[in-house]
Amino acid sequence: MEIRFDHTTLGQRVLFGAGAAATNIAAALRDLGASRPLLVGGSHADQVVDEISTELDVAGHIGEVVQHVPAERARAAVALAREVDADAVVAIGGGSATGLAKIVARDTGLPVVAVPTTFSGSEATDIWGMTQDERKTTGTDPRVLPRVVVYDATLTQGLPPDLAAHSGLNALAHAVDSLWAPRADPINGALAGEGMRALVPGLRGLRADAEDLRAHEQVLYGTYLSGVALASAGAGMHHKICHVLGGTFNLPHAQTHAVVLPYVVAYNAPADPDSASRIAEALGTPDAAAGLWDLAREVGAPGSLGELGLTEDDVDLAAELATVAIPGSNPEPVSEEQVATLLRSALRGDDVRR
Ligand code: NAD
Repeated sequence: MEIRFDHTTLGQRVLFGAGAAATNIAAALRDLGASRPLLVGGSHADQVVDEISTELDVAGHIGEVVQHVPAERARAAVALAREVDADAVVAIGGGSATGLAKIVARDTGLPVVAVPTTFSGSEATDIWGMTQDERKTTGTDPRVLPRVVVYDATLTQGLPPDLAAHSGLNALAHAVDSLWAPRADPINGALAGEGMRALVPGLRGLRADAEDLRAHEQVLYGTYLSGVALASAGAGMHHKICHVLGGTFNLPHAQTHAVVLPYVVAYNAPADPDSASRIAEALGTPDAAAGLWDLAREVGAPGSLGELGLTEDDVDLAAELATVAIPGSNPEPVSEEQVATLLRSALRGDDVRR
């Protein structure tokens, strides 16, 4: 079969090592020629913050980070970076800390060193997001791609088990959705496949022992590969639906991804058997959607969108908003009615085998 594609790999350095965050942050800053970092987040990494504050000339520290990057907080962070004359931003935290650092980078051009403490995968993308008047705006900008990512699995060990499960399933959704996203190509597919093969056993390992360091490493490794795949391939049907549920109906980010994913896979699998078998293979099951539905329950994800606060009255508007955003690359054509049916199944938490 002919192979033909146009792929862009985003340039990023990744330093991966358990217990090495402080050393690797210092090395990353040194190699960037930076010596006065603005520190963002860090509330779940006290020891790392202490170590870098002792060793480096930290120009400023924004300790409290709010979800979805409120615009006024973002403006204040940009102003602080300028005021203290920072020459880099170090973000230690989940997608919210990375997200705030990205806005500082977008508006000042400062390089970001991202040190994830969840499995959000934001560190692997050039996508920024900001919220104003309850509306979330997103965009892409090469300046916001963290120049260096420092992964240290001891930092995710403190995640409460449910949060780890939702966040890890969010990472799995990045891999799955990249398979039918607008710029899907064989390189992204290979990254997504390896990402899923690391995430599935890693998530099962975390369920068995929430502090298992090897499992945390596997999930972080899978998170990175999946984030890279999504950053390159773009967002597909799953992300468009979740974006509406989070942005318009204020459903929680990672949990929403965890619930919706099996239904999107059930919808697309018949039209894209190759992707379905890639997902099924990573899950070790014959049926991709059923395997994802079972995995979500096995690792402790919420069972339905109803549990997350969506109501029957919300479904038609959600379907209308999501349908227009779903890319033409989706293997199965979509209509508002079909998206509404999918959402109703997810609202009730129907078994995807039905
Ligand atoms: P988050 O950063 O808001 O963290 C969720 C919660 O976990 C917070 O209460 C946080 O304090 C806590 N937490 C973080 N690390 C912890 C740890 N190690 N131990 C205990 N608690 C910890 O949420 P998230 O799920 O990491 O990220 C979601 C946000 O990131 C959303 O705003 C989403 O839109 C964004 N996001 C952006 C991209 C992108 O490419 N731009 C990708 C994924 C997610």
